[in-house]
Amino acid sequence: PLYFDYQSTTPCLDKVVDAMVPYWSEFWGNPSSRQNRLGLHASAAISLARDKLGSLLQVSPQRLIFTSGATEANNLALLGYSRAKAQETGSTGHLITISTEHRSVIEPLRQLRREGFRVTELTPNVDGIISLDGLSKSFEDDTFLVSVMLANNEIGVLQPIKEIASLCKSRGVIFHSDASQGFGNLPIEIDKLQVDFLSISGHKIYGPKGIGLLVLGSNSIKIKPLQWGGDQENGIRAGTLPVPLVIGMAKAAEIAIEEIDLQVPRIRKLRDKLWQGLRDEIPELMLNGSFDKRLPNNLNFTVIGVNGSRLHKKLRPLISCSSGSACSNGSPSHVLMSLGRTINEAEASLRLSLGRATTLNDVEMAIDIISNTVNYLRK
Ligand code: PLP
Repeated sequence: PLYFDYQSTTPCLDKVVDAMVPYWSEFWGNPSSRQNRLGLHASAAISLARDKLGSLLQVSPQRLIFTSGATEANNLALLGYSRAKAQETGSTGHLITISTEHRSVIEPLRQLRREGFRVTELTPNVDGIISLDGLSKSFEDDTFLVSVMLANNEIGVLQPIKEIASLCKSRGVIFHSDASQGFGNLPIEIDKLQVDFLSISGHKIYGPKGIGLLVLGSNSIKIKPLQWGGDQENGIRAGTLPVPLVIGMAKAAEIAIEEIDLQVPRIRKLRDKLWQGLRDEIPELMLNGSFDKRLPNNLNFTVIGVNGSRLHKKLRPLISCSSGSACSNGSPSHVLMSLGRTINEAEASLRLSLGRATTLNDVEMAIDIISNTVNYLRK
């Protein structure tokens, strides 16, 4: 089938695989074992990868914590910071997020609620974007943490991160942003964004699965570890680093940034063509989320008047796309429901995401496949 699911995951680029290969079999040392040569070699390779990622993100390399992915990075930031803060102050407090976050933000926040913290889940505007006024009004005296993603994984909308960061700064509130879907599609300079925590995933940027980063906005933020038993990552994240994955992630990030001006306009043009073509062929499509403030590679729309499960079943052999997040297990999208879609509408929605290998021919075929399928189902 045609692949239109790059927001779910991306293939490792050949150059990324090439960069990783020697670290599986030739330089297989433990980077924490600096008493032996292989260990030293691995440790030096990690340092270089960390330096490279630091310079790409424009932060000091000491502020990067390697994790198993963005899920862990989100958990580490939210649980780790909140628990450290509670331990230090002797009391819980209030956190704010939006209802359209990825589950790897929503669920740790629900866990914090069970631990006695209070959490406000703001519903975004109908275009999927947070109301800054609503956010301002939801701060309470003991609000200490806000988490709002850079770009949504389902509807692709971009949140006003800079504005949120400055609102938080002016109130002395820590700000976390899940940038898994933005990195590689948008320029990200941590210091300019003024975020305190940023999460990134390797496999969304044509790097390996099982690796991610939590970026700290400053060195002074305290985090209580989620796992214990090693001094790696400044004692914040115990466990031997997966050297090949770290090398692969750094290579993928380097290529993503190097080629951003080449890929992004090309992909955006294809995405716009896809949307135009679909609208020309299929009446009554409802776009989900703002069109303008959206990732260049995302399209998400509801097909009015068709049964979602029949639509997805018919499309499955022909085109890989999704009705929501890969992590939501087929239940109707909480993101689309937050925008006011009914269950039926949410189910009859398609997320199409484009990537480096998408061609004009793929787009034309997708338009044909989807329009034929919808027109058949509507008959
Ligand atoms: N956050 C967002 C916005 C995502 O799209 C994903 C992808 O599934 C994740 C977090 C989880 O990332 P990972 O698979 O690296 O844990």
